[in-house]
Amino acid sequence: MSGWFRRLRRRPDPPAPALWAEVRRRAAWVGRLDAARDARLQSLAAHFLHDKTITPVAGLELDETRRALLAALCCLPLLEFGAEGLHGWRQLIVYPDAFRVNRSHVDAAGVLHEWEDELIGEAWESGPLILSWADVESDLAEPDGGFCVAVHEMAHKLDALDGVLDGTPALPRDWQRRWARDFQRAFDGFVARLERDEATALDPYAGEAPEEFFAVCSEYHFSAPALLARELPAVADHLQRFYGHSPFADRALPR
Ligand SMILES: [Zn+2]
Repeated sequence: MSGWFRRLRRRPDPPAPALWAEVRRRAAWVGRLDAARDARLQSLAAHFLHDKTITPVAGLELDETRRALLAALCCLPLLEFGAEGLHGWRQLIVYPDAFRVNRSHVDAAGVLHEWEDELIGEAWESGPLILSWADVESDLAEPDGGFCVAVHEMAHKLDALDGVLDGTPALPRDWQRRWARDFQRAFDGFVARLERDEATALDPYAGEAPEEFFAVCSEYHFSAPALLARELPAVADHLQRFYGHSPFADRALPR
């Protein structure tokens, strides 16, 4: 029965033109897309708004424009990958600001460690995607600053689609092999620099784990692609193929 209803259901309507114009005005990554990719993003965002429950918490209010902005930013990494990138989860939870989570871990000696982390975003493998609205807004205010928390968390979602969160998304086999080799080499080099206490142009958080490396580099692809290409050319090439041209691809490095 539900399958029958699903077949009859129409494709979700694209966002209203005035609403989308506002999204393009507020989000430079969207405003800089050419007409074909903009149309693709509109259809992905409509899909997102139709399929996902967006839940503001802790007193946050999300009007139609904010919801459309969130949908657009979360769908940016899907411009080439497509709507299959939305599979496997249903809810976007949005906090007003950075949020605290309780962590625990039992070590090898059986001792329970508990601590609190302050996060601006989190993506569970098949659970909700969680964002801090204040951080989304600061990304929007400085779209070429190297940060985009929505893209970061969506990169984790894409990474997890094949069942393993390891910094390598589901790709055709040959490409996946080259991706894994190039990313591993770049990650090892990055970690070695951190261990030598060298300053890095990219956020040192990328050195936490291979999956964080992929997610952080994804943020640079969209917001500071020239910097990424200078620091990690092989990684930048893979991401350009995976995500398509960066909206800031024409932006040279400041001298
Ligand atoms: Zn992360």
